[in-house]
Parts: sequence; structure tokens; C-alpha cells
Amino acid sequence: MGLESRHPEVTAFLQASPRKMVIGGELCAARSGRTYPTHDPSDGTVLADVAQGGPEDVDRAVAAARAAAEKWAAVSPGERERLMRRLGDVIKAHGEELAQLESLDNGKPLNHTRPIDANVCADQVYYHSAWPRRMTGETLPVSLPNLFVYSRREPVGVVGLIIPWNYPLIHAMQKAAPALATGNTVILKPASVASLACLRLGELALEAGFPAGVFNVITGPGGVIGEALAAHPHIDKVQFTGSTAVGQQVIRLSAGNIKRLTLELGSKAPNCVFADAELEPAVAGAFKAAFGNSGQSCVAGCRLYVEAPIYDAVLERLTELARRARVGPAMDLQTELGPIVDAKQYETIAGYIQDGLESGAHLVCGGERLAAPAVPAGGYYLPPTIFTGVADDARLSREEIFGPVVSVYRFETEDELVARANATTYGLAAGLWTRDVARAHRVAARLKAGVVWINTYDLFSPNAPFGGYKQSGYGRDNSEAVMEAVTELKSVWVSTK
Ligand code: NAD
Repeated sequence: MGLESRHPEVTAFLQASPRKMVIGGELCAARSGRTYPTHDPSDGTVLADVAQGGPEDVDRAVAAARAAAEKWAAVSPGERERLMRRLGDVIKAHGEELAQLESLDNGKPLNHTRPIDANVCADQVYYHSAWPRRMTGETLPVSLPNLFVYSRREPVGVVGLIIPWNYPLIHAMQKAAPALATGNTVILKPASVASLACLRLGELALEAGFPAGVFNVITGPGGVIGEALAAHPHIDKVQFTGSTAVGQQVIRLSAGNIKRLTLELGSKAPNCVFADAELEPAVAGAFKAAFGNSGQSCVAGCRLYVEAPIYDAVLERLTELARRARVGPAMDLQTELGPIVDAKQYETIAGYIQDGLESGAHLVCGGERLAAPAVPAGGYYLPPTIFTGVADDARLSREEIFGPVVSVYRFETEDELVARANATTYGLAAGLWTRDVARAHRVAARLKAGVVWINTYDLFSPNAPFGGYKQSGYGRDNSEAVMEAVTELKSVWVSTK
């Protein structure tokens, strides 16, 4: 086990504990003075203490964001674009530091956060920096006489961003960048188990020259400050990414001021391999889909459907890859699967594995927590876990596990496959593997999911819309579609008489 050494800026950031929130252009302790420890999931040690915000801190952040809103919306498009691009540059310059903070805080392997998360975070900012000059309306040819009618897009106002722990850097900027670019002020609330990289993003926004109050970051328990954001009468919009259960709670809390909502929620993605697929890429893709980020991914391909003629071959090869996978600490560059984020998440996953065993499913491999000295004693490490013989109505088939657990199912016909793949309350993502072009497009159209990958899996781009069908949420991130999420559309009627 060879761990990468910590970047000096990471060491300095962690030593300056407790870490403060970013409110109104200043670094602030919680009004209550409370802090909580944030842990390294790779070994269970405390990384730093973090300000534990309360409702009074939410009020403070809302007041700061409100005070800054009108001025920020009035900043010229060219200047807003320049600031956005500068933020992208600053994030890039601090890429290694951000990647390490993320790996240390949420356990995602550095060999992923280093090339991907920090870069995608900056790329989001660059992509969305174009909106200030492209927030265009239309002239509208109405049928009434003597009128000039046009539409214009305006910022929604103060936007609360509530995000989960599995991809903090990417989720933060996927949501903050379009909101900021279109003239909104934001209050970002990361998950309490993985706040550090987001706190650093808030500081970097100040360094990039964002005015006080435009980009605020608050930390603390979701059940307290997340609820306060969702219910706050002076927040105009909440963009939420997280579980469906909490998303439902956010809907209820938002009712008071008819808050605008975008919800990116849970999933149970089907990944479908037809008999004519190229075997090796399909199996490698199925491995990545199911076990990437230790399955702690909203798009995890946790239901693997394989057409009968190649079922045995796929299962055998996938099992080989699973048994060989290197499970270890996030800062080891050899690691393929990092630790589970914390004890609570581990217990949830272990509960599903137990449930699978008790309901008569067959455990092909994995399923048991790894022990020291193979892995550090303080971390919760689970190897890739494969089940077969899982009934379609079993909890393993229906409920989101959010861990490295895949169920493999055999199917006989395309119609049967489509029906079973769609038999879920979720609809975020799906994959399919085939060499038959007609079938690829036919099945992609029939799958009820916001994104379908054909002969690949788990790819994203800021200009490709992303969001869910059914209980995976509503609204879209990324692409021009995000304009609906971060702006209001106004019609202006002018008499020309
Ligand atoms: P979670 O729902 O527990 O928490 C998400 C965020 O909501 C966190 O910041 C949390 O502090 C906050 N929160 C918790 N309780 C709250 C409440 N009562 N009111 C307001 N906010 C509250 O989710 P998680 O465990 O952090 O992340 C895993 C979940 O996120 C999975 O269900 C996964 O599918 C989902 N997710 C979805 C997407 C997507 O794009 N659809 C992406 C990543 C993760």
C-alpha cells in the first residue's frame, strides 16, 4: 500500500481546523460556536473539525445572498463571463488540492478525482460561463394589432444548492455555475460527511473576485440546515441532488413560498447486455457501471440483464474481474474501489446483502467486509459483490443500495428485457450493449430513463442534459436545458400605437 503524499495546501487547509463557512464574503464560524469532526473514510481518522451551522446561519447566508442579488444580476454580461472564467482558472490551478481534499473526505480513489472530478468541476464553470451573453429572449409575433412583444430571461434570485457526498466537486459546480452565470446568488450546502472540497470552492470563488454574498457555502446536518434552506421564505429556488426520500421531504418543505425546485434523486439503473454484444467491452463496462466509486453512484448499473446465450460467459468473466479488483484506501493510486463513505452507509449496504442471502438469492462473490492488514482497520471496505437468482420483486431488485452490489439477471427476449428494465419506480440512467444498430436505437427509445448509454457507460458532459424520469426527479442539469432551472421567463408587451 503506497499512499500519495498530501499536497502542502491540503495539509495547511486541514491544520487550520476548525474550517469555517463562507458567508457574505467572509469565513464564519457557526453562530452557536459548534463544530463537528469530519473523517477520512479510508482509515477512520479525523481530518478536521467543521463549523456546524444552524438555522441562524442559514438566515445569515440568505441575508447576504439577498443583499448581493440585485447588484450581481446587474453586473454586465461580459464582466460576469470574465469572473466565471477566472473562477475556472483558479479551480484548475488548485486542481490537485481539490482532488486530494475530495478523496480524503469521501474516499473516492485519487486516480479518479485527480484526472476527473477537479477537471470536470472547472469544465462546468467554463461551459456555463457562456450564458451571460446567451441569455436571450425572442420577439413574439402575436396576432393583436399595434404591439411589440418579446420575452426575456431573468435570474430566479437566491438559489439554495443541496448536494450529496458522492461527487461534491462535480455536483457543486454543475449546479452553482449555471446559477451564477445567469445572475443568481447561491448558498451551497454540501453533505456533512464530505464538505471540505466545497468549503475550499467557496474560498476560491472569493479569490477569483466574486463579490461578497454571491457564492456562500454553509455546513452542518441536512436535517437542520438542509431543511431550513428548503423551507426558507426568502430562498426562491432549491436545486437538490440526493435520495428520493429526502427529495420528497424537500418538496413538502418548499411548499410555503411555492419555491422552484429541481430534483436529481435516486436510481436503480438497468444495464442490458444482448447476446450479439462484444463480450470484453460489455463486461468491462458492466464492472465499471456496477462498481465505479464502489457503487456509490446515482447511475450505478446495479441491475445487470444478460441475454441467455451469453449469460454464463458474462457472469464468469465479471466474477473474475470482481475477484481481482483492488480494494483499498483512496490515496493509493493502485486502488480501484475505495472505502464505503461511513459506518452508516456500510450498515445500509450490509443490510441489503443480508436481506439478499435470507431471501434465497445466490451470492457469487464478495459480500464480506475486508479486514486489516489487507486494508486499513478503521475503514469500511467491501469487495465487489455479485448476486444471482434475485427475484424481480426482491428488495435487491427494487431499492437503491448505493454500494458495490450488483444483481445479474438472465433474459430471453427484447420485449421481456424492456418490461423488466422499466419495472422500477426510478428512471435516471440505463445502459445497453449490442452490435445491432437498429436494436440499439429501438431499445434506447423504449427505456424510461433520462440518460441511456449504448456500448459505453457513465459518461457525462456539461452540454448533455442530465436528469431523471419518474421518482429519479424532475428538471435537468447541464446543457441549454438548465436555463429552465435557473431563470424565469418574462413576456413584455409594448403598445406601438
Ligand atoms: P441524502 O438525500 O441523504 O442527502 C443529500 C443532501 O441532502 C445532503 O446535503 C444532506 O445533508 C441533505 N439533507 C439530508 N436531510 C435533509 C432534509 N431533511 N432536508 C433537506 N436536506 C437534507 O443523500 P446522500 O446519502 O448524501 O447521497 C446519496 C443519494 O443521492 C442517493 O440516493 C443517490 O442516488 C442520490 N444521488 C442522485 C444523483 C442524481 O443526479 N440523480 C447524483 C448523486 C447522488
